[in-house]
Amino acid sequence: MSRKIIRNGRIVTAVDDYIADILVDDGTIAAIGRNLVVGPDVESFDATGLLVLPGGVDCHTHMDNTFGDSTTCDSFESGTRSAAFGGTTTIVDFAFQRKDVTVLEAIERARAKGAAGACIDYGFHVIVTGVDDQVLADMEHAIRHEGVSSFKMFMAYPGSVMVDDAAIFQAMRMVGQHGGMIALHAENGTIIELLIKEALAQGHTAPKYHALTRPAIMEGEATHRGIKLAELAEAPVYFVHLSAKEALKHVIEARDMGVPVFAETCPHYLFFDDSAYDSEDFDVARYVMSPPLRSKDAQNALWTALRTDDLQLVSTDHCPFCMKEGHLGKVNQKPYGRDNFSKIPNGIPGVETRLPTLHNGGVRKGRISLNRLVELTSTAPSKLFGLFPRKGTIAVDSDADIVLFDDGERHVITAATQHSNTDFTLFEGHEVTGKVKKVFLRGDLIVDGEQWLGKTGGGQFISRGESGGW
Ligand SMILES: [Zn+2]
Repeated sequence: MSRKIIRNGRIVTAVDDYIADILVDDGTIAAIGRNLVVGPDVESFDATGLLVLPGGVDCHTHMDNTFGDSTTCDSFESGTRSAAFGGTTTIVDFAFQRKDVTVLEAIERARAKGAAGACIDYGFHVIVTGVDDQVLADMEHAIRHEGVSSFKMFMAYPGSVMVDDAAIFQAMRMVGQHGGMIALHAENGTIIELLIKEALAQGHTAPKYHALTRPAIMEGEATHRGIKLAELAEAPVYFVHLSAKEALKHVIEARDMGVPVFAETCPHYLFFDDSAYDSEDFDVARYVMSPPLRSKDAQNALWTALRTDDLQLVSTDHCPFCMKEGHLGKVNQKPYGRDNFSKIPNGIPGVETRLPTLHNGGVRKGRISLNRLVELTSTAPSKLFGLFPRKGTIAVDSDADIVLFDDGERHVITAATQHSNTDFTLFEGHEVTGKVKKVFLRGDLIVDGEQWLGKTGGGQFISRGESGGW
């Protein structure tokens, strides 16, 4: 049955809040109105008392991504299923250009993984690890013809993915002319590398030293440098996982001057702080992500910035590893760095908890409005990365990616009931109010309560328009 009607729900977008029916026809929204009259052949869902939200868009996930010796423990299948249960219907994951893999081959490989496994819709940013004429030409081609208009570059991790300022500048200059955008991981890689070496030489091997060797001021420095490179290149720039006040300060200053600078933060920086590192215990490895958790003061500044639009979106940086080596057969997980913190794979899960935690800790606590929650998790990422208005809102002709959310239902978050392959969540034992009840992907009901109705490979690659123009 291709026609469905969702009756009487409270439709909340980035700007609207009203009660109406939504008629879905062949995967898109055909009509919105009060008491819509339809024939008996139309399947009906009662959304009375529920919020009706556009499907979440998460522009920072790492499904089946390899970093050094470790691979994230979620496949496209498990990771996107987990996303769906968290109310996310589109992700933008990563394709890896390397010395022996061109930009276009990277996209082709990533698309093959997505086609085989994705349960929700998806796109890719290409991680660019080196720049030459061919790479630049391929990037232009990717924007124009492959539906891939954003590229990630690292100012950290020398010897693996880090690129120098000239490479970043060249890439920015090119994409700025063609409707693309560079996303930067902004931390000063060579200084951090030095601090890591010094710590290890002093016998500091515990996970807490991960945080102590990645100081906030070095995120601030790299963010400032990235902004200046973008200004010179006359290109928009996007900062992933912004965590430090020292970095936020530069983003605010640039935006106030009218420079097209955008940034996301992640739920873990909003709900956890660096007191998590006050222990020599290996269990601290669960808090090993880059950048690390920052001060309580920084956390408050991030919340303020979400309200004032100095930060435009919240992505999860879902980069899941397991705390237990061998869980579901996964190897080189967190314990890989038991004797050396620098070998602990950097990253935590989060794709399933973004909506409930931000609703509970943001909307219910009065830190952001409900409309702003939708904007941060769906509309803004769609606009910034070329998915709008197909994704990111509830409107006639948009994809029928729809989440029915009970904003009064309490539940306790625990890894055991989540759908990721990982064996932990930072939110273990947290009670939250607000639960995803039903999820529709292009009109198909894929999540119904605890039940999975989606299809492996049922997600579609979404060819994106220009990035950074918003
Ligand atoms: Zn990441």
